[in-house]
Amino acid sequence: MTENTTINENQNIDTDENNIEDTMQTTTLPTTLPTTDPKTPLTHEQIRNFQPVEKCLEGKNILVTGAGDGIGRVVALTYARYGATVLLLGKTLSKLEYVYDEIEGFGGKQPAMLPLNLEGASYTEMQEMANMIKKEVGHLDGILHNAGMLGSLTPLEMYDIDEFEQVMKVNCTAPLMLTQSMFELLKEADNGSVVFTSSSVGSAPRAFWGAYALSKQAVEGMSNIFTQETANTTNLRFNCINPGATRTSMRAQAFPEEKPETLKLPEEIMAGYVCLMADDSIGVRGQVVDLQPK
Ligand code: NDP
Repeated sequence: MTENTTINENQNIDTDENNIEDTMQTTTLPTTLPTTDPKTPLTHEQIRNFQPVEKCLEGKNILVTGAGDGIGRVVALTYARYGATVLLLGKTLSKLEYVYDEIEGFGGKQPAMLPLNLEGASYTEMQEMANMIKKEVGHLDGILHNAGMLGSLTPLEMYDIDEFEQVMKVNCTAPLMLTQSMFELLKEADNGSVVFTSSSVGSAPRAFWGAYALSKQAVEGMSNIFTQETANTTNLRFNCINPGATRTSMRAQAFPEEKPETLKLPEEIMAGYVCLMADDSIGVRGQVVDLQPK
């Protein structure tokens, strides 16, 4: 690298020899960048091992779907512990109420409850929700699309089409609709972050995983397309997270023979979830972050 190394708005490191567009704002930097430079996007390993500082989500409004149970519940509590105002979206009101009470119990910012069954949810309902969020909190700094359903594990040849559509709606179409509905609110944020939830079958399809695997593949593609479409026009970043094998009721449904005590608890994988919402992950775009790589 030559003496006058420059870094451009898109955080790509270039040398003098490269053509840098006149219009692009450049800054002269020393030849070696410190690893903690905020303009250097974090690696997946750094995201997995992120050590959040107290209040790193202070001032952020974050919508978490599937916030009443499993991983989503623990993420909602964790975001609130780090100072975020959490908007709890889920199917079962009583579960949301429980999480709401837990957050109030440790003195977190007052959350909001958004009971919604994503399976039947219409675009109109989501837009009404967006209007309500705009009125109450003004903007959205992040969405974690976490709600999901497994569906049947069965050969595609005999997959029930009604069930196929149900799984695709909850796992894929609803996250798209919700993102569209909230887009203006996300653009109001300084550095909005949208995180979709994938799975190991999202990048490597596996026999008998049917609609679930296909929905997760679609979600990874959706995050990629959003990234390409927004990278040069907004500060929004889109990424996927794959929690890996985690001790929840969905995992028990998929692997009934497995010993739950061999699996990580949701609490043990929170670093990556916090990181992707914190400003530390600015510059991380279009990634699929596996929280428990083999
Ligand atoms: P759980 O089944 O424990 O929780 C799923 C959550 O999604 C629940 O809060 C549930 O609400 C909500 N939900 C389901 N259907 C709907 C719906 N129609 N409308 C609104 N909310 C709904 O799953 P996990 O916590 O294990 O999974 C969370 C995410 O992580 C999922 O996207 C899953 O695919 C992914 N994942 C999980 C892995 C694991 O090992 N656990 C591995 C890889 C990926 P309610 O309880 O009210 O029904």
